[in-house]
Amino acid sequence: MHNHSTRSDGLLSPTQLIELASRNGVDAIALTDHDTTDGLDEAAAAARGSAIALVPGVEISVDWGGTTLHVVGLAIDPQASALAEGLRGIREGRWGRAERIAAALEKLGFAGTFEGALALAQNKEMLSRTHFGRHLARAGVVKNVQQAFDKYLAKGKPAYVPHKWATLEEAVGWIRASGGVAVMAHPGRYGLKPMMRDEMLAQFQRYGGEAIEVVTGSHRPEEYAAWQRVANEFGFLASRGADYHGPGESPIEPGMMPALHASLRPVWSKWTH
Ligand code: AMP
Ligand code: MN
Ligand code: MN
Ligand code: MN
Repeated sequence: MHNHSTRSDGLLSPTQLIELASRNGVDAIALTDHDTTDGLDEAAAAARGSAIALVPGVEISVDWGGTTLHVVGLAIDPQASALAEGLRGIREGRWGRAERIAAALEKLGFAGTFEGALALAQNKEMLSRTHFGRHLARAGVVKNVQQAFDKYLAKGKPAYVPHKWATLEEAVGWIRASGGVAVMAHPGRYGLKPMMRDEMLAQFQRYGGEAIEVVTGSHRPEEYAAWQRVANEFGFLASRGADYHGPGESPIEPGMMPALHASLRPVWSKWTH
């Protein structure tokens, strides 16, 4: 229930993603590109010729008091106007942010990174840090994308640029207004201490958030049990997703994640009937 394509920072086209999922025996998959629903038509067309059900999705970038959160929307209607307008607003901010990232990298001695990242982005509206990371790896500045984040692009590193994304309330509101289910993506990735984590999840739930990811390519397997407990304490539905970005970058492909613990109610139980 969480995968990327070339419409954001994935390496496979929507069609290639569906083909891979098909080979892996997946029966239902969500395409959840960052801040865009652009790939959903192509994914739906590819899924039509296969045994796979496509769940239309998106992964919305949120600023929560200086912490960037990701909220996945599942079973959304991409035509819904509040969602479409909201996502367009977020995408508009990405170009200027990329210019600021490039300026910070230039100060560190790396020229031409805006052009380099842009050349690697198939969707020019969706310039992301991943594209900068790939460019730096190709240029030989770092040995891989991960190292580009660890040295330069991650929060607290010299080319990190804070950014005002959507608010948590807006992101959940847009998803719900489009008929979708709001899922807190990879809650273990935000580095929040237990009190802040609980405050964040309580707010998310108040705004109408219904689920959290428990089993995700962005959590280590030894973390699953802790997030399972959190889901059960709050009464959240649970989601599972590879957070797949492509060969060479995401070792776990769609369809290869372990099952959710039997105590959890899967988010897809909402619509499998
Ligand atoms: P952006 O939305 O432009 O800030 O890019 C966010 C994307 O960068 C995430 O969805 C991941 O694909 C990738 N990313 C973020 N943090 C890291 C990290 N520490 N290591 C590797 N990739 C990361
Ligand atoms: Mn990504
Ligand atoms: Mn994410
Ligand atoms: Mn993701």
